[in-house]
Parts: sequence; C-alpha cells; structure tokens
Amino acid sequence: LSEMKEIAKQKLKARKSEFFSEYPDVFNKMYNFTRAKTAKALRYYPYFLKIQESDTTEVVIEGKKVLMLGSNNYLGLTKHPEIAEAGIEAIRRYGSGLTGSRFLNGNLVLHDELEVKLARFVGKEAALVFSTGFGVNLGVIATTVGPGDLLFSDELNHASIVDGSRFSRAEIIRFKHNNMKDLENKISAADKTKGRFIVVDGIFSMEGDIINLPELVQIARKYGARLMVDDAHSLGVLGPKGNGTAAHFGLTDQVDMIMGTFSKSLACVGGFVAAEEPVIDYLKHHTRTMIFTAALPPSNVAMVSKALDIIEKEPWRRKKVLENAAYIQKNLKKMGFNIGMSTTPVVPVIIGEEMKTFRVWKDLFEEGVYTNPVIPPAVPENRCLLRTSYMATHIQSQLNFCLDKFYKVGKKHGIIT
Ligand code: PMP
Repeated sequence: LSEMKEIAKQKLKARKSEFFSEYPDVFNKMYNFTRAKTAKALRYYPYFLKIQESDTTEVVIEGKKVLMLGSNNYLGLTKHPEIAEAGIEAIRRYGSGLTGSRFLNGNLVLHDELEVKLARFVGKEAALVFSTGFGVNLGVIATTVGPGDLLFSDELNHASIVDGSRFSRAEIIRFKHNNMKDLENKISAADKTKGRFIVVDGIFSMEGDIINLPELVQIARKYGARLMVDDAHSLGVLGPKGNGTAAHFGLTDQVDMIMGTFSKSLACVGGFVAAEEPVIDYLKHHTRTMIFTAALPPSNVAMVSKALDIIEKEPWRRKKVLENAAYIQKNLKKMGFNIGMSTTPVVPVIIGEEMKTFRVWKDLFEEGVYTNPVIPPAVPENRCLLRTSYMATHIQSQLNFCLDKFYKVGKKHGIIT
C-alpha cells in the first residue's frame, strides 16, 4: 500500500505544472484523489462495474454471471418486448433525438400525451415531463420556493432534493428522519410570515421505509405548508395500481405535488411532476432544468408510455415484487441480519463500519451476488450498508440463492451467529 501511495505521489508531482507554482491549483484535489485507484488495485472497488450482458435478474461481469440485487428495476420491465418495440417504432417515426429543449423546438405530441397519462395515473390535474428525475427535484423545488421561504426536509431525503433545496436559496430546516414530532416542533416554532414547503421521499432510497404520510399531511394542513412527495421508488410499487405513496394511503388530494422518475419501475430514464393545472403551467414556464435542457428523446417517451400500459395490464408484477421483498425481509431478519426499517423492495443490510462493508460486499460478489455498498454521505457515519433491491421477475430459486449466500458470508464475518 505504501509503495502504491509513493507511486501516486510521484505521478502527482509529474502532473503539477510550474504555471501554478504561485497559485493554489483547483485541480489539486483531483490529483490527490487516490482512494478509488487504491481500492481498484486491492480489488475492493465496487463502483462502475462493467456489465457485459443483462437478462434483468442476472448480469454478466468479467465473464461471470451474478444475481442482480442492485438495480431499481422493481417490475423487471427493462427487457419487455412491447416496451422495446414502442421505442423502436418511435425512433423510426420521429428520429433518434430532438436536438433542443421542449420549450423551443423539442416538444412532440408524445410528450403531451404522456403528461395526460401520468396525471391520470397519479390522480392529479396535470403533469410535466423532464429529462431526468434529478432535474425535476433540482428545478421544481427551486422554482417553488426561494429566499424568504422555509423548506422543511427529511434528513434522509435524496441528494436531488438536498441540491434542489440549496439551489432554491430558501431557508432549509431539516427534521429527523420520518419523525413527525420533530417536524411539528420545528414548523410550529417557525416564522409565520414565511411560505412553507415540505419535501419528502415516499419510499426512502437507502432505508426502504415509507414516509408517515397520514401524520405528515395533518401537519402540513395545520401549519399552512405545501407538500411534495418524491415517488421515485414508490411508483409501480405502492398504491392499488402502482400509482404511488399518496394513493397507497388514500391521500392523493392532500399531497400538493407528486414527483416521479422513469428510471426505476418504468425502466427508462426521465422524470415528471404532477399537481394542479396552474401549478404545472407556472412550472412549465419557469423551471430552468426543463427549459434549458434537451427534451427526452422520442423513443424514451414512447417506452415510458408503454411501461405505464404494462403496469396497468400486468398487475401481477406489483404483487410479485412485494411478495419477493416480504420473503427476503422475513428470512434475513430470521437469520439475524439488521435490515433497518425496510418494508418495501429496497432492503438494506446494515453492516456499520466502512471497510467491513466492502469486505462483505466483495465476498458476496465472489459468491455470485451483486449488491450495492453504501457509505457516507449517502448514509450516516457508521451506518454503512449493502443496499439490496428485488424485482417482480426474481424467481424463488434466485431468492433462496441470495439467502444462502447472505447466510454463508454473514457467518464468516460474524454479522450473524
Ligand atoms: N429521487 C430519488 C428518491 C431517487 O432515488 C433518485 C434516483 N436515484 C432520483 C430522485 C433521481 O432520479 P433520476 O435517476 O431519474 O435522475
């Protein structure tokens, strides 16, 4: 290791230009970043793995087949033939890309039709389609609130909410994770002259628990706050038709904005926000991450639309993913693993310390199980975890294979006894 560090230092020296000798070079942090290279050399590097083949539940990496427990492909739709066909047809008809923003020259009838469909799906008057889910949170939050407003944010909210909140320059008030008492204490003491906006995840992306929406909407109404729910992980999974967290609790009318992504259950890429028509109309004409970026390509729009049809036509997928998740949760808990607060297809296995998490990740990978090691800042210090997630298309033998391997590796590392 010390030899590697010395080599890295030499390489850094070679890169340093005389030109910067008198000034602090903004590239210094990059030249000094050796952590990923060290991990790669030690074969403990778990990121940007090169997937060579995928049949959704199994992928091939470095020529080896592994069970995929690290995707957000909850309904297993990424290789659905009807979705692929819809994409191919749209490419033939409209071409590969739109070469501009929806605002000026990239808006197809397909985008507008998808918005009508999405609004109906989640039970809102209107919707607006974006090119990424990240862009929805970044842009919509910053367009809805600004300096002089208060933004209440769960401490485990997704990074895109965190960044959207900063981008807005509203005063950010973080409350303890899913802790409605803490939120009420903070919102009741807040300046009454300022606008209030609460933003939460529906299903939290690392812990796999569901927001306490019934209490949250009461607080929002009592203290005059507007409420936005991020349904990135809930769409297709929660609600009687897969129509999200608000529908799951029967509280669609009480949630002012519902955002979702196309990058998980809908098996594509992109995102949307749904709300009352005047709200969407305002966002459509003011949100910088929609106006100043290229439109979602025709194939992608057509595939999302088809994925929504399939969700409606094939309700077994939603039932199956929940069944698979419940089976895994029950059995991992029975073995003695700490799966935190998970009640959804996102099932974290909490390990704690960072290096141990990487060791467990590696052993599981070598045993043929693909998981995602998650370390700070994505999780709090000493709550490093392996994020696993399940699909409707995982079959029983694959779930049992996963449990066998977790048992073997968990024992080896003393995580279970
Ligand atoms: N919100 C949450 C909760 C997410 O997990 C993600 C993606 N990981 C996003 C928003 C961003 O979505 P996208 O991948 O569509 O940019």
